[in-house]
Formats: sequence, structure tokens, C-alpha cells
Amino acid sequence: MSIKAETSEILTRLGVDAKSFSGGGLAVRTPVTGETIAEVPAISATAAGAAIDKAHEAFKAWRDVPAPRRGELVRLLGEELRAAKDDLGRLVSIEVGKIRSEGLGEVQEMIDICDFAVGLSRQLYGLTIATERPGHRMMETWHPLGVVGVISAFNFPVAVWSWNAALAFVCGDSVVWKPSEKTPLTALACQAIFARAVKRFGSDAPEGLLAVLIGDRDVGEALVDHPKVPLVSATGSTRMGREVGPRLAKRFARAVLELGGNNAGIVCPSADLDMALRAIAFGAMGTAGQRCTTLRRLFVHESVYDALLPRLRKAYESVSVGSPLTSEALVGPLIDKAAFDNMQKALDAARSLGGKVTGGARFDSGSAEAYYAHPALVEMPKQDGVVLEETFAPILYVMKYTDFDAVLEEHNAVGAGLSSSIFTTDMREAETFLSARGSDCGIANVNIGTSGAEIGGAFGGEKETGGGRESGSDAWKAYMRRATNTVNYSKALPLAQGVSFDIE
Ligand code: NAD
Repeated sequence: MSIKAETSEILTRLGVDAKSFSGGGLAVRTPVTGETIAEVPAISATAAGAAIDKAHEAFKAWRDVPAPRRGELVRLLGEELRAAKDDLGRLVSIEVGKIRSEGLGEVQEMIDICDFAVGLSRQLYGLTIATERPGHRMMETWHPLGVVGVISAFNFPVAVWSWNAALAFVCGDSVVWKPSEKTPLTALACQAIFARAVKRFGSDAPEGLLAVLIGDRDVGEALVDHPKVPLVSATGSTRMGREVGPRLAKRFARAVLELGGNNAGIVCPSADLDMALRAIAFGAMGTAGQRCTTLRRLFVHESVYDALLPRLRKAYESVSVGSPLTSEALVGPLIDKAAFDNMQKALDAARSLGGKVTGGARFDSGSAEAYYAHPALVEMPKQDGVVLEETFAPILYVMKYTDFDAVLEEHNAVGAGLSSSIFTTDMREAETFLSARGSDCGIANVNIGTSGAEIGGAFGGEKETGGGRESGSDAWKAYMRRATNTVNYSKALPLAQGVSFDIE
């Protein structure tokens, strides 16, 4: 069966109307072969505005539904996702080129956040606070916020939506989602899966609780500028964040910005090298280097450099590259030609700075329009130029270090620091790395790689953006507004000292 026919079968099975993926103006291609697999109708910026208005009306009804009942909808969504896991995981592999386990793993993250959010729906706690006034009680109450805008990147086409949406729904918000223009099919599939959950849930769920806006940047801009959207959670490149952040600030809207990651690891003299090797290989080559948490810079202590590097080079030379649909390869395709060209440009720049490159060439998959690359390992004389930027491709820059304090400085010397890890069995090094003067990233790990965050912890925290946070921990607070309430149960009204009004 052709990939196009298989895609159409999956979408139909998931309940997506054929009109939503055929005959439209936005061509969808699979990076696996480069062929077009669907034509999706895109929405205009004006129609996007109308959908947002409708979502605002939905919010006004949804905020009155008790939070544990809202949790029931998310519980049903989790059930529907479990039932659809194989289909949706396969669709992620088709649309983004992730290998099978990663496609399924992404859907599992959606299921996990639903479970988390169901529990959360009974734990949206505020504090009761000691007040200085006699006969008074002071407390804080968390209320639903409004329409939550979600803008997502191509490389996590479904999980990012769910990290935001599951929290937003239990918090009493409606959601308007602008997926990447490269991945509209998985978004349509999620919309259909959500509609199934709503059908089982019943009429408490208002129409328009979730809107999916298929379109490109101007649709994203309409969402960012709409006055009825008090929070936009935007995931994508740092370039996108720089455009979205000021627009939101201009109208005092909240932003959760999850942007690029130029993530680093440090391998110390006492590291368990077998463990480090496995974590480095997975963190740097997994998802063909197209994760925000991909390991991109590696600092290796001079005493273990010669023991680690030949083994790492071997891992790079032997890793299997190929179609995620028809092979067991560990590395699938890059999303498109532009990604491949950027990779080659970065490798040329690294070479010009004295970098010694292993791998990096195009892999011939037999499809002229598909872009696969052998992951590249680049031994650099020092951290400079292109090493300081995120290139969204499988490139790992390796540098030797001597002094621990100096390597911490180097580690923190990039803008887009999102995730980080250290490999050591020395307690002092490990704890220093996690301390105030250690890694400055939102995610700092010991003896585990940079990629593969769990939903229970707040995800993200890219330092340049002030640290967007979504999914676990207390990330839910961004999706609600806090009111401080004071109740006077005394017979007096204490005012500021020396103030009294003469009232008859
Ligand atoms: P991208 O920035 O090109 O696009 C992301 C989304 O933003 C798309 O939906 C796009 O249409 C939209 N967009 C772009 N410009 C916009 C604007 N001016 N206004 C409103 N919307 C706009 O990113 P991409 O290529 O899809 O994804 C790769 C990037 O995303 C990498 O840099 C990666 O590190 C990052 N990423 C970060 C995280 C995280 O959680 N920190 C997760 C996944 C991906």
C-alpha cells in the first residue's frame, strides 16, 4: 500500500473527515520519501479570529464546570489516546519521520499527561495565609484564565499540544491550537480523538472547547494578537520566540515560550564511560537530532578523551540510517531539504574553524526528495562560532577540557540552554553541577542524557526566555489566574493607623 493510501486509512479510522485532508491548498509531504500525502485546507486569519471568539464563548461555560468534572473529560481523552496509540504513533512516523518507538513514545507522553492532569483536577490548591488583621481570613483562589493559545513545532507534533491542553482543560480554559504547517495531519487526528472523548463526556463540554487552526505563520500571528487570548504557549525556534514574545508583551498577555536548545553534556574523569556512551549516542543521534533536548555539545575531560572518542566514533560510523516505516533503522530522515542544507552549512563552518568531522554526508534512501543524513561527530579545538548556535540536525561537537570550573563557564556560555547533563561518580562535581553556580539550564541531569524528560517535572526552562514551563510540577499555575481574598468576620473594620472616616 502507498504511504498516501495508508495515511488516508489511518485518518479515516481515527474519525477525520476526508474533506479535511484532500483537495485543500496546503500540501503535506512525508519526510520518509518526500512524496505528497495529503492536501489540507488552510484557514484564513479572519476565520481564525472567529474560531477564537467561539472558544472564548466556550470558556465562559467551561469555567463553571467543577474542576474534577473537567478532569473526567481529560480522563476520557487519555482512554481514547490509549485506544488510538498505534494509529497515532504510526501517523507521527509518517508525518515527521520518527522511528516507530519514538512515534509511539510521543503518544505515551500524551497519555501520561492526561493521567497527571486528572489527578491535578482535584489539586488546584490555593494557600490560606495568616492575616495581620484580627477577625479576618485571607486565602488565595485559582480561577480559570480564558482561551489558551497553543503554537507547536513540527518535531513534537502531538505531545506538545497535549502537555498544554490537558492542563488547560482541567484548569477551566478552552484551547486554540495552531500546529506546525508541516504537521497538520497529526493535529487533525488529535482533534478527532478529542471529539470522541467529548461525545462520551456529554453536553457539559461546550462547543468550541478545542479549535485547531491549520495555517502558516499569519494564522499564528492572529492567535498571538487576539485580545481574547490571555496566554499563548508557543513552542518552536528562538527566532519565532523573539517575534512572539514582544507581541504578547505589548498587550500584556502571558507567554510560555519553549524554544531552541543548544544542550551540553560534561564527561568527567570518574564517569562510567559505558553509561555515558549510551546516553550520548541516544541523546545526540536520536530523532535525527531533531529534539529541542538533543545533545549538541560535549565536553570530555582530557584524562578520558582518548578512551571515549574512538568508541563514540565507532557508534557514529555504525548507526543505522533509513526509513522508519520499512526498516528497523535508529535514525530516520530530516524534516526537509532546508534542514539538510543547514546541517551541511554548519559542518562547513565547523571545518573552517578546525573541526574534524566524522559522518554528516547524505544517506541515499532511494527517494530523491527525502533527506537523510549520517549523524555527524565533530571534534572541535574549542567552543566557537557555529558551536554556539542550535542547528536542528544530528551534529555533536566534542571538546576537550582540563579544569572543572572553566568547563562550567563554557557549558553556560550559550544563549539557548535548555537541557544539560553531567557524567560523573564524584559527588562534589555532581552536586556543584546542580547547584546555583552549576548548570544554568531549566533541566540539569546527572548520569542521564539531556533528552527524554518526564511529564511529572516541569518541562523546559530555556534560560533566554526566562524559562517557559509546561506539563508537570506547578506548571498549571500559568493556566489560571490567582485571586487573593480577604474575608472580615469581625464587627470592626480596621483601617490604616490614624485613619478614620466620620460616617453617619
Ligand atoms: P518554528 O519556529 O519554525 O515554528 C514553530 C511554530 O511557530 C510553527 O507552528 C510556526 O507556524 C509558528 N510560527 C513561526 N513564526 C511565527 C510567528 N511570527 N508568529 C506566530 N507563530 C509563528 O520551529 P520548528 O522548525 O517547527 O521547530 C523546531 C524548533 O523548535 C527548534 O528550535 C526546537 O529546539 C524547538 N522546539 C522546542 C521545544 C521546547 O519545548 N523547548 C520543543 C520542540 C521544539
